[in-house]
Amino acid sequence: MSDELKGKRALVTGASRGIGRAIAVDLAAKGAMVYCLSTREGGCDEAVAACKEAGGLASALGADVSDGAQVAAIAETVLADGALDILVNNAGITRDGLFMRMSEEDFDSVIATNLKGSFLLCRAFARSMAKAGSARIVNISSVVGVIGNPGQANYSASKAGLIGLSKSLAKEFGGRGMTVNVVAPGFIETDMTADLSEKMRSETTANITLGRLGKPEDISAVVTFLCSPSGAYITGQVLVVDGGLSL
Ligand code: NAD
Repeated sequence: MSDELKGKRALVTGASRGIGRAIAVDLAAKGAMVYCLSTREGGCDEAVAACKEAGGLASALGADVSDGAQVAAIAETVLADGALDILVNNAGITRDGLFMRMSEEDFDSVIATNLKGSFLLCRAFARSMAKAGSARIVNISSVVGVIGNPGQANYSASKAGLIGLSKSLAKEFGGRGMTVNVVAPGFIETDMTADLSEKMRSETTANITLGRLGKPEDISAVVTFLCSPSGAYITGQVLVVDGGLSL
């Protein structure tokens, strides 16, 4: 454990498992106090225990990030204890399907969680984060938000939207010392990708320059770097962390 984030207060959405859990544990291991948020109350209890085991402080929150009232209530709880320094918008869902068969509901639900959810969290915390003077926002997009993917028009649109949101916020809040960046993972082994067929996995792996699928820790290391003092002069950027998949 290092203490480069000692005294910092962080909120990670979608922290119950996968990439979000790894980010929460990594931030906690660097000394941050981490609020771990997922859809349901108690959903992050195990992640909180892992953060504490890593030597940090953590607390679990339950809310649907696409619901403005629930996000406002979360912000009230978190800000009652002090300002927030680090916000990682990681919660995300997929509702894949070929475009001609994609329902309006599947389009709306993916945009609501992946894009509107990040907007709501940023809006709820931006004022207090701007006051902090050196706050960090990291939004988790996807390589498909940069290059597109058949069967993921809704998901790719939501992840591309996050890039526009982040660059605009980077410009709006840069004068207040806040950095806003995007991390765009490639194919990472989590529950989200667990259902893919063996055929799909081996075809994807064959297209990855580094010859392997990614691990949640490959992403959390980059997010933690952006939140650390070493990342202070990086803003408005999209860091693609995909082992060379998009090359
Ligand atoms: P996951 O499905 O394992 O975990 C998703 C997390 O988001 C869970 O904690 C879940 O509770 C939470 N969540 C979902 N909807 C929510 C809502 N409405 N409100 C609050 N929390 C909600 O996913 P993962 O693979 O760990 O992916 C994390 C992020 O990384 C997502 O944004 C995903 O789009 C992105 N990503 C993943 C991959 C990959 O290959 N796994 C690749 C690129 C980008």
